Amino acid sequence: MKTIVLGAGVIGVATAYYLSERGCDVTVIEREPGVALGTSFGNAGVIAPGYVTPWAAPGMPAKLIKYLLKPTSPLIFRPALDAAQWRWIARWLRECDLARFRVNKQRMQRIAYYSRECLHAFRAQHAFEYGRSQGYLQLFRSDYDVELAQPALNVLRDAGIAYRELDADACAQIEPGLAWSRVKPVAGVYLPDDEAGDCARFTRELRAVCESRGVKFVFDTEVLALEAAGGKVTGVRVR
Ligand SMILES: Cc1cc2nc3c(=O)[nH]c(=O)nc-3n(C[C@H](O)[C@H](O)[C@H](O)COP(=O)(O)OP(=O)(O)OC[C@H]3O[C@@H](n4cnc5c(N)ncnc54)[C@H](O)[C@@H]3O)c2cc1C
Repeated sequence: MKTIVLGAGVIGVATAYYLSERGCDVTVIEREPGVALGTSFGNAGVIAPGYVTPWAAPGMPAKLIKYLLKPTSPLIFRPALDAAQWRWIARWLRECDLARFRVNKQRMQRIAYYSRECLHAFRAQHAFEYGRSQGYLQLFRSDYDVELAQPALNVLRDAGIAYRELDADACAQIEPGLAWSRVKPVAGVYLPDDEAGDCARFTRELRAVCESRGVKFVFDTEVLALEAAGGKVTGVRVR
């Protein structure tokens, strides 16, 4: 079967890999001149299924409002006279309820653990270096952050996921670089089974594996539209 993957971030290149493994003839189209030049270039590279958490969480609405009032806010919100936007916000607020948070977090964890199993199976087959390190340390800068993390920690506890709650000194023992940090953490949580790596490097190596299996990459090509007829996608318009 001929398949086209749109976008050569880690998700697109991994999709191309698994499709080629199943015998598909795969072409990846990417507007940039290489793979992993979008989010996959600058993400944190953390593989933390134990700590994967929905943004819709108890206490999050108040935290986001505080963010929005800061000039360095990581969030931008442009209110519009668009019913769909406000319906989405209303749904999001409903999902911030503790019971909904627990359901959503467990769903995310299931898919995240499955993904990590796939990664480990892939690594057993293709051993290449991508700056991998074991363990994940999350830092809390205030008692408020520690309080906000409690529902997530309860989910970890109930799911039997290994984690340790740490004071500031114990955090510095795991990450000695904290000795030079201007804002010291007040506490942290450490997940020994989680891991991190360089996502861009991983994706570049994965591209080479894909190419060795016959996957074609078309760079500097922007997808403008999907062409559809009879409820089916029939083509991709590019420039
Ligand atoms: C700051 C930050 C930190 C993050 N940290 C983590 C983390 O630690 N762990 C984690 O699991 N996730 C993290 N994420 C989530 C992250 O988005 C994913 O991990 C991953 O990088 C997404 O990969 P992707 O392939 O879906 O997207 P991208 O890497 O963005 O790839 C999409 C590709 O599609 C191309 N493209 C888009 N539109 C077109 C078009 N019209 N035509 C042709 N090409 C197109 C883009 O150029 C790009 O190369 C983080 C996200 C952010 C923003």
